[in-house]
Amino acid sequence: MTIAGRLAPSPTGLLHLGHARSFLLAWWHARSRGGKVLLRMEDLDAPRVKPGMADAALFDLEWLGLDWDGEVVWQSRRTELYEQALSRLEARDLVYPCICTRREIAEAQSAPHADAARYPGTCRGRFRSIADARAQSGREPALRLHVAPGELEFKDALHGRIVEDVARTVGDFPVATRSGAAAYQLAVVVDDAQQGVTEVVRGDDLLPSTARQALLQELLSLPHPSWLHVPLVQDANGRRLAKRADDVSLAQLRESGLDPGEVVAWAARASAQPGPERGLAGDYLDSFDLALLPLSPVRLASSPFAR
Ligand code: GLU
Repeated sequence: MTIAGRLAPSPTGLLHLGHARSFLLAWWHARSRGGKVLLRMEDLDAPRVKPGMADAALFDLEWLGLDWDGEVVWQSRRTELYEQALSRLEARDLVYPCICTRREIAEAQSAPHADAARYPGTCRGRFRSIADARAQSGREPALRLHVAPGELEFKDALHGRIVEDVARTVGDFPVATRSGAAAYQLAVVVDDAQQGVTEVVRGDDLLPSTARQALLQELLSLPHPSWLHVPLVQDANGRRLAKRADDVSLAQLRESGLDPGEVVAWAARASAQPGPERGLAGDYLDSFDLALLPLSPVRLASSPFAR
């Protein structure tokens, strides 16, 4: 089997050190075993995508010495593939229209005895069809997957065996948004299968999404990749880095004159990997050893590059 990893940035803001470390780990993991690396731009979430951020992400990745095989895949250009997957789910009566707004869901979830994270099932069985939902509510419906109760098991290379009953944890979840675009969970699953991705290495903020993705893979008869969820990088106060202005971006570090070799060396050190004091991604390949990767989050010193 050809090993194929992937880098899947969302162009919603500038990449920061946490992204750099996760992308380097994904690349090292695949390339150190002779695998391919594919690049997919996750630009589906139209309101959150910001102009210029996709090019900025590609520039940052190259700056670190990362490369990829073949053309960049853009999710915004693959609507047809997602629609085919949705049709397959619809044909099996596995999706239903949902007109709930975020606010209505939040209100229902905050009711006594309600489960704060689970969709309460308000629209399940409520409408005969999408057209019916539209006509009755005057709203454009989203589509939710009808999730049957049952435990699902998957393995993460770092976190081990995970068992989850999606019907209990999140309940019926969206597979298409109200604007008609594929929801993240569906797009990822369709793309990973279509691109032939065999291993998913990403931040562990996405660990809670994995059971949903595994479930969709089963329903669509798609193969499961292997999963490795990398502990996130936190700031000096233990707060997760975000694409906010106050969290230092790779672009800012570059502008301040920092050498990419220092960023890569930091990421290697923060992953307990041996290697040179500074270097680009390829300089750490020969010595890469996944077994050394710590399970705990990385706490960023207030100025990790102080000289
Ligand atoms: N695009 C997502 C992100 O930047 C990653 C999705 C994935 O790796 O499955 O957080």
